[in-house]
Amino acid sequence: MHDHEHPHDHEHPHDHEHPHDHEIDRRALLTAGAVGLGGVLLAACARLDPGTPTTATRTNSSTGSSPTGSAGTVTLRGGVPEGFDRFADTVHVFADGRYWMVEGDGMPAHDMMVGITSWQQQVPVPQPYTGTNAWRFPANPVVAPTPISARTGLFRGAIAIAANGVPIFNALNNRGDDAYLAGELDQWGGHAGRADDYHYHVAPLHLQSVVGPSSPIAYALDGFAIYGEREPDGSTVGALDEYNGHLGADGVYHYHGTTTYPYINGGLVGVVSASDQVDPQPVTTPLRPAGAPLRGATIIGFESAGSDLYRLRYAVRDQTYQVEYRVSATSVAFVFTDPSGRTATETYER
Ligand SMILES: [Zn+2]
Ligand SMILES: [Zn+2]
Repeated sequence: MHDHEHPHDHEHPHDHEHPHDHEIDRRALLTAGAVGLGGVLLAACARLDPGTPTTATRTNSSTGSSPTGSAGTVTLRGGVPEGFDRFADTVHVFADGRYWMVEGDGMPAHDMMVGITSWQQQVPVPQPYTGTNAWRFPANPVVAPTPISARTGLFRGAIAIAANGVPIFNALNNRGDDAYLAGELDQWGGHAGRADDYHYHVAPLHLQSVVGPSSPIAYALDGFAIYGEREPDGSTVGALDEYNGHLGADGVYHYHGTTTYPYINGGLVGVVSASDQVDPQPVTTPLRPAGAPLRGATIIGFESAGSDLYRLRYAVRDQTYQVEYRVSATSVAFVFTDPSGRTATETYER
């Protein structure tokens, strides 16, 4: 029987103080690179056949017309939903019936983890988001009569998938705290969860400089696009609803990433099948016992030597520690080095 482990957990000290001055620096970093290649990436768009929205069991749908919108159609470029086309080397996207499937290992091209001050001792390990364990979202998103708010639900699993294949979780951790303000996130807005699975908790606004303003930086798992800090035509973003979205000029609902809460889609406005998480979605299986919060630690370095060897460095009271790990298809081998140079090894089968 499969043990349905919560993919991530955000226990952190109760007396944790929010580092407000630090926080401003982090915000600046998050938006760095936001000024993008506007206009450079304009290209002809193909459109999917609109088809018929599926009517399978859902918790936020009912019969009757939607009060705020109609069915949308995901816009394609290069044969895939626009945005993903920029990451074709690492993210494989294909149509499967009424869904788009997104395959990859969930690892971004940027470094990770640096700057985290509330750390669970988890590290980013490539994940098998392939085959039946791929991400998916509707090709023809439909506004639901009753949206699901991320303030009160969706604390398990992802709520969106970034154009670079990194999953995006609720901006609130499962204690209801803002993960970003709690110091749990790196400069890219991400961290590694309990399954050593890297994910963001805010909008990956840095992707704006890669995909351009006309393309989404992510898609919510209800299928609606998430744009950056500009409208697709480059204009200033208009008023957003509590879910960080609105109807676009094309009459189709979309979300925006922002530098303040809710940062990313503040829930799911579109029809999805959801309990306490969107179902189905990839399962992340922990390869080792969950780490504990390491008080006083700050992650100060991360490097990868190829796709199979990684080194993370952290400091506790000015002493530097290193976690080196080698990933293969069947195992992950860790070498922990303490400030005196002493090493300890742990190997886990996958
Ligand atoms: Zn998380
Ligand atoms: Zn908009």
